[in-house]
Amino acid sequence: MARRAKRVLSVASECAPLIKTGGLADVVGALPAALEPFGWKSKVLLPAYPGLLERLGRGTRVWRDEDLFGGPAAVIRGTIDGLNVLLLDAPHLFNRDGGPYSADGRDYPDNHVRFAALSWVASQIAQYGTSDRWKPDLVHAHDWQAGLTPSYLKYAGAQVPTVMTVHNIAFQGVVGADQLDYLRLPTWDFTPDSLEYHGLLSTLKAGMVHASRLTTVSPSYAQELTSPDFGFGLEGVVAARRDRGELEGIINGVDTEVWDPATDPAIVPYTAANPADKDVNRQRLLDEFGLDAPSGPLAVVVTRLTHQKGIDLLIDALPGFLDRGGAIAILGSGDAHYEYELTQLAARYPGAVGLRLGYDEGLSHRMYAGGDVVLVPSRFEPSGLTQMYGMRYGAVPLVAATGGLRDTVTDATPENLENGTATGFTFGDARLGGVIDAGALSFALGRAIDLYADTEAWLKLRHTAMSTTVSWEKSAAEYARMFDTLIE
Ligand code: ADP
Repeated sequence: MARRAKRVLSVASECAPLIKTGGLADVVGALPAALEPFGWKSKVLLPAYPGLLERLGRGTRVWRDEDLFGGPAAVIRGTIDGLNVLLLDAPHLFNRDGGPYSADGRDYPDNHVRFAALSWVASQIAQYGTSDRWKPDLVHAHDWQAGLTPSYLKYAGAQVPTVMTVHNIAFQGVVGADQLDYLRLPTWDFTPDSLEYHGLLSTLKAGMVHASRLTTVSPSYAQELTSPDFGFGLEGVVAARRDRGELEGIINGVDTEVWDPATDPAIVPYTAANPADKDVNRQRLLDEFGLDAPSGPLAVVVTRLTHQKGIDLLIDALPGFLDRGGAIAILGSGDAHYEYELTQLAARYPGAVGLRLGYDEGLSHRMYAGGDVVLVPSRFEPSGLTQMYGMRYGAVPLVAATGGLRDTVTDATPENLENGTATGFTFGDARLGGVIDAGALSFALGRAIDLYADTEAWLKLRHTAMSTTVSWEKSAAEYARMFDTLIE
């Protein structure tokens, strides 16, 4: 008799295509299909934000509670785009106008309660199963929103193994210690070795300490996280788990069905072998942004506009790039002062700088398809996905040499160009004494302009980038191997 599939409950606040504000959603949405060939079947537990239940169509109620942190709640099982999801329907927590975490730029004041509730329900399902008798063999918790799941399981004495994945350690779910009781956490465990983070409670730390294994989304980021420069105060926790052999860095893959220039409905299709129509996409993108045809490369940026993403470096380095014949199209939303400064820049360089403020999935596809270069000047980048989308779509990545960017892009040095391994440009590599700043970015942009002028070399670089494997296969195998070890 065939062995029954192994079951994983994935717990997260976002999951593409249902709800997305960043890379976390892409990962949570893509992992289930990627894990399946390894015998792991997933269900993703996420909040029923407004509209999600409708998109599910007919769902089945598989769990309920009269009082989940202040109101009634149910879990609805269903399928969307082949993805098995469990939606936590708790109107008092999740039925709100605005985004998943905030409205009008302000975080909801009870975010700690909202996501503690999500984690609590995950722990209940992991212990007792759903009413249709589905019970996971393992729980995979993502980021601070799911961070209390391993803790609740630990305090319940449950044996279910847990994996905590840190997608970005900068977001730690910190809240006052006076909330411990309300969040159903034991005050006796409020110590620096456990729930306490400098007198406060951090739900991310809780998960990082209590999960059976800790992972993050690239080997380089895993290593960086043990240093104070990147660990945001949690470097000691990461280092301790590393020393016990309980830390893994597994690079994200991309969903190669959603992100395929050969079949993407948002663009004029093309392939690495037959890329001619990429030029059509380029021209359309120029038109869409009202840009003049540049003599140099057309750069694109698709990003949250935050300090992490190096937007200030970009603003400093851009004039030099434009003066040398480059052009740029930017899609992003985020901090008001970056939005303002970019708007100023676009006004100063009409025809060379195009800007769309906001979030637009379709446009993001058209940008990777139309761009010659995708810029990712992040100060830190756990995995990064946009550089991989760029590679697949032939927008050569130009990236800061940090975290997952370092792990996925091979710099166009003369040697790497010669031996055909180059896939993009990197700058500011600390291991080579470099610094991620505007000067290093400017220098890299200059290198891109120079290489772009050599059409043959450029097309070879682009072809290598487009042919590079960025799918989930290898990374899913690594997750599956770890999961297997934990349930043995
Ligand atoms: P992060 O998760 O830190 O934001 P990633 O590179 O891992 O960075 O993932 C970002 C994801 O969000 C990518 O899928 C990217 O295309 C998408 N994205 C970011 N900003 C926008 C935007 N303004 N419009 C559309 N998609 C965006």
